[in-house]
Amino acid sequence: MIVRAGIFYDGTLDAPRANVDLIVENGVVREVRDSGGACDREAACVVPGLVNAHAHLEMSGEADTVGSLALLTPGQRLLRAVENAAKALRAGVTAMRDLGGSNNIAIEVRDAINEGRIPGPRIAAAGRVLCMTGGHGWFVGREIDSPMEARKAVREERRAGADCIKLIATGGVLTKGAVPGLAQLTEDEMREACTEAHRHGMRVAAHAIGTEGINNALRAGVDSIEHGMLLNDESIALFKERGAYLVPTITAPCCILEHAEGGGQPEFVVRKAREINEHMQANLRRAFAAGVKFAGGSDAGTPFNFHDRYADEVLMLQRVAGMTPHQALHASTAVAAELIGLHRGILESGEPADFLCLDADIGRDPGALTRPVAVFKAGTQVR
Ligand SMILES: [Zn+2]
Repeated sequence: MIVRAGIFYDGTLDAPRANVDLIVENGVVREVRDSGGACDREAACVVPGLVNAHAHLEMSGEADTVGSLALLTPGQRLLRAVENAAKALRAGVTAMRDLGGSNNIAIEVRDAINEGRIPGPRIAAAGRVLCMTGGHGWFVGREIDSPMEARKAVREERRAGADCIKLIATGGVLTKGAVPGLAQLTEDEMREACTEAHRHGMRVAAHAIGTEGINNALRAGVDSIEHGMLLNDESIALFKERGAYLVPTITAPCCILEHAEGGGQPEFVVRKAREINEHMQANLRRAFAAGVKFAGGSDAGTPFNFHDRYADEVLMLQRVAGMTPHQALHASTAVAAELIGLHRGILESGEPADFLCLDADIGRDPGALTRPVAVFKAGTQVR
């Protein structure tokens, strides 16, 4: 198949190329060359498939996340995950990392997709989150209260089939009584989890909103900080020293606040999102300007944050964190792919043919990403 692109972004920060042919064979990019001769399909703009480094497949954007999860049977949760995987793929998300759900649901969905039985993105799954007793997300998590329990829990998640580990370093917005600014798992507990996970080649993500928890997690050796809104100068220095990624999930608090009135969300959720939002823009801009590596991830599944709206996060990286459209695309393709470790998220010879055909150059019309004309995963058209 030959796809002709008016303008072509390969996922790196190299300048986009005009008039390019993408040659696809057996699901893989064979060649990218100057256009000429016949072609099978034309698009104004071609970009790599999007990579969402932070999603929760069994959550569908319900107003009251915890309340609605509690009412669902395991079978219903699985069906939601199947439905959300299909929705994400059709909207252009060709790879994602599921950062926590009940039991093995995301792991089962990943396997069914890999076996070709259901449609969905490439998935890296964390299994259950590891939190302190009563910590953020405890209702779907695995509670740990010492370094030894952290080691045991990493081994359990690995046995269950997890690709990566998710730690809860601070309180969070959606759990009643959990204060986002306060630290939860200790540095020692997280260090042991990181040592054990890294020994098995598993990456570690830490949910961390408050300053102390962000810095504890970075010192403990995590690979990414999720949310990170209350980071400080020490955090920025630690990010750079450790080479850790920041996945800012800007859409998450924005969706909560957009539906603050009459949306049916618990009052504590809206109040906590407001507190975080006050500091988010200044801190994220400071971190990006200082050279912290940003990877795209939306926390899809949280209130009003739907799996088929990941392109909104790419726009938020521009509006809130101060990126150019090209930088935001890079963060949401190649950088996010590098973090989740399934493929490179780059369109070059030998890489999987995961790409989107768009009706305009994202450099001039970033919104084109929200309305893909066609979506391809491994060379097969899925939209
Ligand atoms: Zn999350």
